Amino acid sequence: MVSMPDLVVQRLTKSFPTPAEPLVVLDGVDLRVGPGESLAVVGPSGSGKSTLLAILGALDEPTGGSVTLGGVDPFTLGEREQAAFRAESIGFVFQDHYLLPQCTVLENVLVPLLADGQASGEDADRATELLRRVGLGERLTHRPAQLSGGERQRAAIARALVRDPLLLLADEPTGALDSRNADAVADLLLELQSGRAGMLIAVTHSDAFAARMGRPTHLLDGRLVEGQSVERSPS
Ligand code: ADP
Ligand code: MG
Repeated sequence: MVSMPDLVVQRLTKSFPTPAEPLVVLDGVDLRVGPGESLAVVGPSGSGKSTLLAILGALDEPTGGSVTLGGVDPFTLGEREQAAFRAESIGFVFQDHYLLPQCTVLENVLVPLLADGQASGEDADRATELLRRVGLGERLTHRPAQLSGGERQRAAIARALVRDPLLLLADEPTGALDSRNADAVADLLLELQSGRAGMLIAVTHSDAFAARMGRPTHLLDGRLVEGQSVERSPS
């Protein structure tokens, strides 16, 4: 069988135990994303966006259904193989940048490469080139505190991409930015990830951000519904 690079999600469910009824957050999510495709998932706060991304990134286990990336189901892997799979195949960007405050911008971008031991000169060249592409070529030795919010988020994007992930997951990546910086970050994500045939899934509560990303999809009652706008009942 030829293994497909796609992300394939089938009948995915996730519920959390509570003292009363289990809380069903994802209730049968089906999704297929192919190389070079980007998807924006829109949903209000509490609709399950972060829960969905955590499962797609193999940070949390589903209750039911299946997820495969490049033909691999990460939940059938042992702990070490799963960690290696995550490091190699998946990049994350969050609303908060999570840069290490004591490290320079360049060192922060090198962190994902240290899993394989000491970073080489080649690694440093690669990280530097990526930082140039996100517009931070002149900020290599700055510390995160010396950057603007938009610059910090661009450094976080460079870090997420330094291992060339098959799938980039972005959780409200522009939530802390003003609209001009938010647009620039959305464009960068699209250009850098989709441009090299990687897959990108961004979740957001912002319709404007989703429209910019293309293929907007709504998370509604635990399921994904594709389409630009969704009928809302009058309130
Ligand atoms: P969103 O990212 O769309 O704001 P989340 O995925 O964070 O939504 O949360 C969806 C729902 O699941 C919320 O009601 C939240 O309280 C609940 N939830 C998330 N994580 C847990 C957890 N670990 N245990 C129990 N409930 C959780
Ligand atoms: Mg969230």
